[in-house]
Amino acid sequence: MVQVGYETKPRKGLYFVLPDEHYRDRVPMVWTQGESEDNHYWIPMPDYPNVKFTSELLIIVPKTWTAVSNGVLVETKDLGNEVLWHWRLDKPHSAYLVAFAAGEFEVVREDCDGITIEHYVPRGYGDRARFSFYRTCDMIRFYSDYTGVKYPWPNYKHVAVSEFIYGGMENTTVTIVTDTTLHDEHAHCPGSRFPCPDMEDFTSDGLVAHELAHQWFGDYVTTKDWANIWLNEAFATYFEALYMEHAKGRDEFLYELYQNLRNYLNEYGNRYARPIVTRLYRDPEEMFDRHTYEKGSLVLHTLRNLLGDEAFRRGINLYLTRHAHGNADTEDLRKALEEVSGQPLDWFFTQFVYSSGHPPVIKYSWSYDPANKLIKLSISQAQGGDDSYPIYRLPLEFEIKYQVVGSTYLGSK
Ligand SMILES: [Zn+2]
Repeated sequence: MVQVGYETKPRKGLYFVLPDEHYRDRVPMVWTQGESEDNHYWIPMPDYPNVKFTSELLIIVPKTWTAVSNGVLVETKDLGNEVLWHWRLDKPHSAYLVAFAAGEFEVVREDCDGITIEHYVPRGYGDRARFSFYRTCDMIRFYSDYTGVKYPWPNYKHVAVSEFIYGGMENTTVTIVTDTTLHDEHAHCPGSRFPCPDMEDFTSDGLVAHELAHQWFGDYVTTKDWANIWLNEAFATYFEALYMEHAKGRDEFLYELYQNLRNYLNEYGNRYARPIVTRLYRDPEEMFDRHTYEKGSLVLHTLRNLLGDEAFRRGINLYLTRHAHGNADTEDLRKALEEVSGQPLDWFFTQFVYSSGHPPVIKYSWSYDPANKLIKLSISQAQGGDDSYPIYRLPLEFEIKYQVVGSTYLGSK
């Protein structure tokens, strides 16, 4: 056994929110943000996703504070003016997922089929937690059912913290979110009473659904390197949309995919095109872009359409169970989907994941040959001279509608 004694003034990874006379209701707190490689600024450890280990944090804070971290609370110990909080996660996870937050928090608890869910919010905001987080249990049930993999951790926690510019971070069992997602009943249900499912104005559902999906895609099965980070982020983005379909209907689902397409095309048109999986980056942070999230989610949607929902789900189940508490790359996903579907998919991943760009404009024309009663359909791919894949293989469905005039058929089916 090796013990390392150290002290640090971290320049990254661990952040202090100090009292500020301009913001009198600000609650002083401490929080961490590890992804992508910032946790080694406060813990000396190998800081790369492909190294997994169990973790245990003993955190000493002022008596009025609460400290929350990965896994289960082993004990709290009164140390006079201070309190020791002892948290432990018995299952292995990656360095970037180790986290804690501490401050004057209120906690709201709920039970979800035996899984304890806790929401830690700054003191004074306890009554707002439900507006942001009330769908969490329904999301856990949906993801467990869709993947066939039960929620793989002992509990789930949200911590809402100040000055959190990252939006949300899916640390194992303890998602840290920005406190700006906390809102009151009027913001949620203007002119109505909570809950108001069809009249919601501001919700945290997208953020909550995305981070929760990472507990399966990212935390349970983790990308083996930053080149394959879409395995974390595209799945979280797509599962967020799948949950919206489950909870709010097909239109919401399609609208979310449409927004994902717009976001991707904006980056493609104004900044750059790159393969979803690439090793060409200076800093892993560069990988967290609209190709990884939004284009990745659309590629997963295309895969689901290609294979059918049933095979897609079985493939995801195999991918998750085969690499449980381990790491995976895109080839592992391809193999799992190939095994359940019986279809080779190398062509799919080559053109959509390992190449830049996207399917071109499809041009078509048709003519009818009455003598032979044949419809002639011409289809061409009309991409320009950009960096797209040369000729896409695109399974398409065609519908031919015909009309009967008198007794003469103008078309055939
Ligand atoms: Zn994410």
